Amino acid sequence: MAAAPDDNTPDPSIAELIAARPHLRMHAMDGLTMEDVPLGRIADEVGTPTWIYSAGALRARYRALTGALKDAGLDAHPHYAVKANDHLAILSLLRREGAGADVVSEGELLRARAAGIPASRIVYSGVGKSERELRLALTEDIGQINVESGEELRMLSAIAVSMDRIARVVPRINPDVDAGTHEKISTGRARDKFGIPFDEAIALYAEASRLPGIEPVGIATHIGSQIMDLAPYRAAFGRIAELVRALREKGHTVRVVDCGGGLGIPYRNQPGPSLAGLAGVIKAAFHNLDVRVALEPGRWLVGPTGVLLASVILQKQASGARFVVLDAAMNDLVRPAMYDAWHGIVPVGSADAAGPVSPGDVVGPVCESSDTFARGRLLPDLGPGALVAILDAGAYGSVMSSPYNARPRAAEVLVDGSDWTVIRARQPHSALWADEIVPA
Ligand SMILES: *Cc1c(COP(=O)(O)O)cnc(C)c1O
Repeated sequence: MAAAPDDNTPDPSIAELIAARPHLRMHAMDGLTMEDVPLGRIADEVGTPTWIYSAGALRARYRALTGALKDAGLDAHPHYAVKANDHLAILSLLRREGAGADVVSEGELLRARAAGIPASRIVYSGVGKSERELRLALTEDIGQINVESGEELRMLSAIAVSMDRIARVVPRINPDVDAGTHEKISTGRARDKFGIPFDEAIALYAEASRLPGIEPVGIATHIGSQIMDLAPYRAAFGRIAELVRALREKGHTVRVVDCGGGLGIPYRNQPGPSLAGLAGVIKAAFHNLDVRVALEPGRWLVGPTGVLLASVILQKQASGARFVVLDAAMNDLVRPAMYDAWHGIVPVGSADAAGPVSPGDVVGPVCESSDTFARGRLLPDLGPGALVAILDAGAYGSVMSSPYNARPRAAEVLVDGSDWTVIRARQPHSALWADEIVPA
């Protein structure tokens, strides 16, 4: 099974983790700050656990991405993958920057529209869109529907005809490349459930161009998530370019190439692909094809912009081991339990951060052994009430949280310069059972 390629490199230090994240800084007086706001102040007013995002970092990342694509001379358009973080404040901020959206459900489509993202800039992906979801997509007249099978294509054709609409369709092709990422987030190998097999692409495109209510406009692919190497992109895009040429030779129109998402982030400060590198790979594959390039970045845009702020409940010594027990748990941030994900964890207090370190396991209070954020992590002594920030929690964080152990949803805060706003109030306990019905 895919182990992280960097498993043997030593963990970065607390100072190195902070230094690599420009929106975070350690102040002697105020402790850890995000932009100009001390995280301790947010904890005082909102409590913990709390998700905190940097608006400045999100804008800077969006602009860095579009800048790199522009510098490469590409006609490229990011459609933010809403599933990474679907909060309306995040969607609205990206909409103001000009982003479109990539959605995978009725709920995400409605969220994107509620945030004001124009329907024409919405792409709908996913292996199982229901009839009702396809109807909504056609009613809203969204920009593009990425179909993942012949079965779905025929279903969409029948629905479009019944509604007297034309669906702009982009078949998602499975290029059969291994993205070299974690087993649970690989999507572009022949054995994965996603997309249309490469060998069937031409026949499916031909069928799409004959079917009523369908207008095929391009080709899409998405090979996985947390990809830290450009080689799988190069391989996948090379195959997609080959397909575009073959389709055009047969007389088909191909205007759009949707390159999907998946660009990874350096959770462990490990080296990874640069934006210029990715733009170069896209350009090398498609520059002479005169296509509009779509991208579906999720994690890369929002992941590094967020932290999960938590308090230490107590430090427990058992059988010679140290456990730092937090008030955040796997129901808040499931990535370590679900994908063996590594997240940086840094103390918020400046005195804490400067203390001598020793290995400890960082765990939550949920009754599961997998409720473990980190094992053998070098951290200072952290007494009850000490604050820690779990880094790079902006993507696949809050959206994946659950009420397991009857734990309410954590609060969420957006920091912008020296301003900060509670963008989701902490859920009251009563909301946990508000919609439950006890039969008489
Ligand atoms: C999840 C997903 C993305 C975003 O992936 P990231 O790794 O967050 O960039 C993009 N496109 C599709 C089709 C997806 O399913």
